[in-house]
Amino acid sequence: MSSVPVQLGLVGWPLGHSLSPVLHEAALVAHQRKGAYRLYPLHPDEAESGLQSLLAQMRAGEIRGLNVTIPYKQTVIPMLDQLTPTAQSVGAVNTIYVSNGQLIGDNTDAEGFYQDLEPVLPPYIPPGTALVLGAGGAARAVVYSLLVHGWQVVVAARRLKQAEELAEEFSELGSISGGLLSEMASMDLTDVKLIVNATPMGMSPNVESSPWPATLPFPADAVVYDLVYNPGVTTLMRQAQEAGLKAVSGLGMLVGQAALAFSRWLEVSHPVAVMTEAIGKHGSKQGARQ
Ligand code: NAP
Repeated sequence: MSSVPVQLGLVGWPLGHSLSPVLHEAALVAHQRKGAYRLYPLHPDEAESGLQSLLAQMRAGEIRGLNVTIPYKQTVIPMLDQLTPTAQSVGAVNTIYVSNGQLIGDNTDAEGFYQDLEPVLPPYIPPGTALVLGAGGAARAVVYSLLVHGWQVVVAARRLKQAEELAEEFSELGSISGGLLSEMASMDLTDVKLIVNATPMGMSPNVESSPWPATLPFPADAVVYDLVYNPGVTTLMRQAQEAGLKAVSGLGMLVGQAALAFSRWLEVSHPVAVMTEAIGKHGSKQGARQ
């Protein structure tokens, strides 16, 4: 085991019960590295000084890797030396690492999402139309990865302006349009092969809510991907399953983005299997306690 402890962490506000320490600490053990993954809750009133202090610790080698979550995925960008092409295109950073003394901002949500989605899709069928619900930070990563993989994208959000602005921003990458969530019933959804929920609807404690109206039929044979992973089966997933569709939660994306981040920090291959096992054990322990 290397004697220098590896310090990793997550900055955001509020941080609540993050699963990231479980994922990354399991990967540290598997790679026989001492260290820890710390949560750095940072109140927005101290955002500038707090982020600068964490980045200074990265430059000094005291923190090896940092994840960034709401509300700092965009705020942190001007404080970094470089962005990866993915982070640049998505316009958000969720992972920071040091390379040749430079602070690099990356976005592993996009690749983590698509790596998890791909095995769920029907084989040998080319990408078709995807309907993305929500137009916030996570939707940006999803939209980017879908467009670069050849999907046509329709974004439906509760604010038309937000959906249209996102569509405009990504229009150079492929076919994309914006609409209103409340007007999905009047959209032609016949060609939709994938529905992605990128809103927090259905997330604990609001587990009864769903972005999909109860009276709206799902497009036949579409796959439903819910970025929400707490609870493990959301109301949207249940609605889709009852309609005979395949539906998956965002837990695999959470693991995927974490594994990619860990591989950037430690320069190792993606520890997806180790992290998946750790989250499974953690889930059954939590279940046993309830
Ligand atoms: P965000 O930047 O706040 O964006 C949320 C989007 O959902 C916005 O378009 C927002 O619209 C919309 N929205 C919020 N509440 C809504 C409601 N009640 N009805 C309709 N639309 C609503 O958040 P985010 O970072 O994109 O995260 C979205 C979800 O994805 C969260 O549940 C998060 O936990 C999950 N996520 C999962 C992963 C993963 O690895 N599985 C990764 C990232 C995010 P307004 O702007 O109008 O509020």
